Amino acid sequence: MYDMSNDQVTDLIEADLGPGAHGYFTTRGLRARPVPAGSVDVTQPQGSGADPVSSGGEGGDYSGWNLALHVGDDPQRVHHHRRRLEELLNLEPGQHLAWMNQVHSAVVAEARVESVPTADALVLDSRVPGAPAGCCVLVADCVPLLLASRDGSLTAAVHAGRRGMLDGVVTATIESLQRSGVDPADLWAAVGPSICGSCYEVPDHMRTLSAQREPACASRTSWGTPGLDVAAGVLAQLERVGVGHVSAGRWCTYEDSRFYSFRRDGVTGRLAGVVLPR
Ligand SMILES: [Zn+2]
Repeated sequence: MYDMSNDQVTDLIEADLGPGAHGYFTTRGLRARPVPAGSVDVTQPQGSGADPVSSGGEGGDYSGWNLALHVGDDPQRVHHHRRRLEELLNLEPGQHLAWMNQVHSAVVAEARVESVPTADALVLDSRVPGAPAGCCVLVADCVPLLLASRDGSLTAAVHAGRRGMLDGVVTATIESLQRSGVDPADLWAAVGPSICGSCYEVPDHMRTLSAQREPACASRTSWGTPGLDVAAGVLAQLERVGVGHVSAGRWCTYEDSRFYSFRRDGVTGRLAGVVLPR
């Protein structure tokens, strides 16, 4: 479904979700080049220039391919970016992606085109008539997690920040998939770009309390202070429930200006993790 010769593809990072689904993580649209944080002025046009997705020239603090409506960006611009994403994914006319209103909870909702549930995980059952073509999670430092069953009939997009990871959004999503008949050993999981444990500084008491609930997430920053590695917590939880196939990149949103980072930039956009049944 994807023409890899299309140079737009480099604005998307492909994830491994097994034989049943496609998964992608978006970038700011700087052609996914690794650039050290702070070394590039992302407000200057990059890449193809003429393409409003690839051009960083508009949007100010949100420059690049912002896909979030809740961060103060121009809604028309965001809707344009969402349409551009659907075009890049070769969705048929009338097919759409499902989104959610994320609130750092452990709430799992059914992915629907016609509604935007308040939740931090969307489960998509592609066997349901009128099901969306795919579902999305939005992040800027939190962990985007995509899940797919072997045949792709069940997929999920999960927003796992510190609170959601500690409150069990990952296990709640997998339990929901299990109730629909999926064996965790037969699940593919892809963990996308997030702030790393060497960059995410937290107060000492927060690290202590977090580690009591998820020992794998305690970390130390590169400057020697208490930190958290939320992705490590997510990976530990996936392993604990027996997810069979797990992949994770080594991106850090804070260090790599291809990505939006709330910690680095404050007012900024959000990148998306997208899962689509094949
Ligand atoms: Zn980092």
